[in-house]
Amino acid sequence: MQTTNSKDQLTQKAPSLQFEEEVTFRDRIATVDEKGKRKWLFPQRPKGRFYTTRTIVSYLFFIIFFTIPFIYINGRPLFLFNVTQAKFILFGKVFWPQDFFIFGLTMITFIVFIILFTAAFGRLFCGWVCPQTVFMEMFFRKIEYFIEGDAGKQKAMANGPWDTEKILRKGAKHLVFFLMSFVIANFFLSYIIGGKELWKIITEPVTQHIPGLMSLTIFSFVFYGVYAYFREQACTVVCPYGRLQSVLLDKNSMIVAYDYKRGEPRGKVNKKEERTIGDCIDCFQCVRVCPTGIDIRNGTQLECVGCTACIDACDNVMDKINKPRGLVRYASENGIANGEKLHYTTRMKLYTVLLGILLTILSFLLFTRKDVDATVMRAPGQLYQDRGQDSVMNLYNIKIANKTVEEVPLTIRIENMGGSVEIIGSKHIIPVKKEGQGSGSFFVILPKQSIRERKTEIKLGLYEGDKLIDVVKANFLGPVSR
Ligand code: SF4
Ligand code: SF4
Repeated sequence: MQTTNSKDQLTQKAPSLQFEEEVTFRDRIATVDEKGKRKWLFPQRPKGRFYTTRTIVSYLFFIIFFTIPFIYINGRPLFLFNVTQAKFILFGKVFWPQDFFIFGLTMITFIVFIILFTAAFGRLFCGWVCPQTVFMEMFFRKIEYFIEGDAGKQKAMANGPWDTEKILRKGAKHLVFFLMSFVIANFFLSYIIGGKELWKIITEPVTQHIPGLMSLTIFSFVFYGVYAYFREQACTVVCPYGRLQSVLLDKNSMIVAYDYKRGEPRGKVNKKEERTIGDCIDCFQCVRVCPTGIDIRNGTQLECVGCTACIDACDNVMDKINKPRGLVRYASENGIANGEKLHYTTRMKLYTVLLGILLTILSFLLFTRKDVDATVMRAPGQLYQDRGQDSVMNLYNIKIANKTVEEVPLTIRIENMGGSVEIIGSKHIIPVKKEGQGSGSFFVILPKQSIRERKTEIKLGLYEGDKLIDVVKANFLGPVSR
């Protein structure tokens, strides 16, 4: 994604730079050379207020990520995304295939939220809380800096011979990377099967959990591969959200942007002369810290994950040359071009209205959603039967879906008139397995004098003990009393 902004700003650069950059950054992503081979990046460790704040945010992220699998509400995980069983739990509420429309609407609402959020805040999510960025930059990259040293040392080691130090450092790094990937894989799996199931895999005999162990092994190698080798390619080549940026962003969206009006024409510092050109001293610090290897001065680019490392790097440079910070900053394209402040545009307002409508519908559906769904039908081919001198009975079939995590011993009562219910079977209950389905048959017996019409509407209360779970309506057929 290249914008008119980048084109405009290029026209203000020195002609040699302009030509060189036009033929390179527009033709291929920054991590691929002219022969199509991957260019390995050695980004410098950023330093500054944004990096510090992102580090704090990452601690919160890790606390949340590693504790959620242990949080249970009424015996259920807080979140569960069991795609293999088509069972999803959000905030302790189970969603079955029967709730597909709620789940579908949730997804649509989420997508509208993403569109609105991106239109307003660009790739704020990617830079600050995307698991890929947070784990890569705040976890694995830091381990790498600790074991191999900063970018310069890493590069020297990569280009140097395989001596003892290199073998030891590389070996240690990859061992730690794999162990950490294994830990993350465990937690990741617990989001799919639940923390309790994962604990069983860990503690019970291996032979009982072959599929689970295979999943763990595959996930471990995938995470290791991503964080040790694939890295920024996940954002620049694979991530669909990244690729959607070009249609979601507009000139009013907040992005990490280079102020080309202030920075250009760029040029090195010459202490002997008074500076008459732009503030950018062409030091490439913003490029050296970039984890995707791009030059933010070329304008908004698909590869920019909004990590703010270039803001910190440039702010440090501006401090050193006694210029105001913010040559690279959060701003909109219109903000840089016309000095406009970030504001709430008509497009954002329309998305907000749409989001509000969807959230209202979703809240209503969630609020009115029942934990036990029952369907009652009169038994086919039957009218009514006399029961003794003064009563009449009808036979009904019932089907129940139990969305709770506990077995429901169901009993039935008439809610809107006198009479009784007799469930056919032992103990006069209909047992419904936890998170399963049940069915049964029962008689409704009404006194003849309460039957005023041929078809009487009755309300049946479904009870678990004394707890009313649901009320369903049914028709009762009987002779009209005179
Ligand atoms: S250009 Fe800046 S914000 Fe974008 S990825 Fe590179 S360092 Fe991060
Ligand atoms: S860090 Fe700032 S001054 Fe240095 S090249 Fe980047 S934009 Fe220019």
